[in-house]
Amino acid sequence: MSGIFGCYDISHKSTDVAKTVYYGIFSLQHRGQESAGITVNNSGTFMSHKALGLVADVFDDLTLSALEGHSAIGTAKLASELEPAIDSMQPFAIKSRTGHIALSTNCKILNANTLRNKLIDKGAIFQTNTEAEVVMSLFCRNQVKTETVEDAILETMKSLKGAYALCFMTNDRIVGVRDPLGLRPLILAKKDDMYMLSSESCAFDAIGAEIIRDIDPGEIITISDNGVSSTYYTVKGNKCTLEDGRVCIFEYVYYARPDSVIDGSSVYDSRVNVGKFLAKEQPCDCDLVIGAPDSGNPAAVGFSQGSGIPYGAGLLKNRYVGRTFIEGTQGQRELAVRMKFAVLKSAIKGKRICIVDDSLVRGTTTKHIIRFLRDAGAKEVHLRIASPKVMYPCYYGVSTSTASELPATKMTTEEICEMIGADSLGYISLESLRASTEGIRCGQCAACFDGNFVAGTPE
Ligand code: SF4
Ligand code: MG
Repeated sequence: MSGIFGCYDISHKSTDVAKTVYYGIFSLQHRGQESAGITVNNSGTFMSHKALGLVADVFDDLTLSALEGHSAIGTAKLASELEPAIDSMQPFAIKSRTGHIALSTNCKILNANTLRNKLIDKGAIFQTNTEAEVVMSLFCRNQVKTETVEDAILETMKSLKGAYALCFMTNDRIVGVRDPLGLRPLILAKKDDMYMLSSESCAFDAIGAEIIRDIDPGEIITISDNGVSSTYYTVKGNKCTLEDGRVCIFEYVYYARPDSVIDGSSVYDSRVNVGKFLAKEQPCDCDLVIGAPDSGNPAAVGFSQGSGIPYGAGLLKNRYVGRTFIEGTQGQRELAVRMKFAVLKSAIKGKRICIVDDSLVRGTTTKHIIRFLRDAGAKEVHLRIASPKVMYPCYYGVSTSTASELPATKMTTEEICEMIGADSLGYISLESLRASTEGIRCGQCAACFDGNFVAGTPE
């Protein structure tokens, strides 16, 4: 996963394009923390700055002021075992027959290896193991055979299997792409003469841009001096439909920032709703409802509203520690948990606590938290989970890990409850989780819960 952001100033007058992209990827930091970068287009000459680290550490006034141009794209990138941080820094910028091209990706291409090997057999060379390089290499080959950038992208999409949101930048345009199922989000906004694309709407609120709409599944959206236009990927001559769309439901559960609205449904509201449903489905006799900060807090608010049991703060999070969910190894994760939470003893002591969390993946963090609460004098600790059991690894790029690391695949709810040391444990049903995303305009992927991998599985 990663956060991508693009900006095109149709008047060519703004001096703020790179800064706008900076604030954009800064607001998308939660989507990827290993590296950050921006590429600007200054009348056909591209300039990039990218490095390992957080957005705020990678850029300063000096580096930003050097990035002049009328369009720019950027990425806040998450690394993986297959794509080490140093290789996966983006935007991925190259020079092709038609000039400079840069690419920001939020993708998981399932057939990347097969595609790479085929390209190598035809004489292509690769510098990294990244999927972005495979996409770029394919795109450049297709550009030789097609008239327009959009046609080359359409050709490329025919070969790609998986989940992706992409943002290309060429000499005279930026082009956003959402995979035919819309698994990864992408949204369009405008501020003055600048059009922007972002993985999440929270970035637009931060910048003060006006949201226009979500990009459709299979849509290729172009922003150039001529304004905004779209072409669509077709299957047997038919456009992809919204009903067949499958935006990742985990965006609502955990991944997206709560102030984002994705495909018409507010992430915060969906989390509160799921908490309300949870209070009815998995009631709990207790004195205080608390959230596992920060991602469990909205669902805990909902649980309190649904049950009438007071909601309060019980755990504080050290805001200077990153999210444990998306850090490398198990050992690093456990140490991080200890650094991460402080218990408010006076609020907890002598009480029966219901702690609500967004999801239970490996259970490492939760096990520690429950022990912290007991050490602080909690009489009972009940755990309620605002998503169903994670039964399958995500093949589409969300780091819910491999099947062997998922406790739910081999243990009963009672066994998991015992392992993490809670007095009781309850999960929301998938039906209620789906119902929590009020107003959503398309279908949802929930394959990590139900195994229905609509975009296929790795080769
Ligand atoms: Fe999202 Fe789960 Fe589907 Fe992966 S499998 S895209 S995490 S809903
Ligand atoms: Mg959490």
